[in-house]
Amino acid sequence: CGIVGYVGPRQAQDVVVEGLRRLEYRGYDSAGVALVVPDADGAGPGGRIAEAKKAGKLANLEKHVADAPLPPSHTGIGHTRWATHGAPNDVNAHPHLGHERRVALVHNGIIENFAELRSRLEADDHVLVSETDTEVVAHLVELQVQSGVDLTTAMQRVCQVLEGAFTLVAIDGQDPDRVVAARRNSPLVVGVGEGENFLGSDVAAFIEHTREALELGQDQVVSITRDGVEITDFHGEPAEAQAYHVDWDL
Ligand code: GLU
Repeated sequence: CGIVGYVGPRQAQDVVVEGLRRLEYRGYDSAGVALVVPDADGAGPGGRIAEAKKAGKLANLEKHVADAPLPPSHTGIGHTRWATHGAPNDVNAHPHLGHERRVALVHNGIIENFAELRSRLEADDHVLVSETDTEVVAHLVELQVQSGVDLTTAMQRVCQVLEGAFTLVAIDGQDPDRVVAARRNSPLVVGVGEGENFLGSDVAAFIEHTREALELGQDQVVSITRDGVEITDFHGEPAEAQAYHVDWDL
């Protein structure tokens, strides 16, 4: 229902939870956050994903991370869920992780062909722990990055096999300064900052940090880093999004 992504110098957990708070007006039944935790020396690949998710109000998630703090991180994603497939509980809350816990992903919308994708994954010995339509996408994106392509290419390829409506946002534990997102029949906005960038299901997710926005078009993928925003279609061809300035107040 509500989606936030962040990469930049601030603590990602704070920015993401604050963004989810701004999206609360949309209604939701659970909330979660996932972060890329780099290696101790912070250099290069080799990091991991840390996540926390809770059914109920955002306050439940905040209490949970206050009791069991997540490690510092500058790259994160968050979600408030409005359940369509699977009961509102901690396990079904987003983010969902791949089989190896290398990729974390959040999703708004419905993946119509998830049952078929799920059976294929299960036939390949993947264990899916939730009842959601979303978890298959986390597994598929992770399979792609494990095969050696980057997260952006992974997202493009997976979007080609998905049917339905989706805003997807993902992080790769081994790509510490990047968040990748995609959309079809569901909104996705980039917030362009200075030395930091944001993603949101709407501009409320980042309005207190930047008013420069890019509205992604149909069937587009975006990769954000601290200093870069790259947009393509699902086939990797460069694409353009609509830039605008948010001049209203919340
Ligand atoms: N279909 C997904 C689920 O039920 C996403 C729901 C949403 O848009 O929040 O988990």
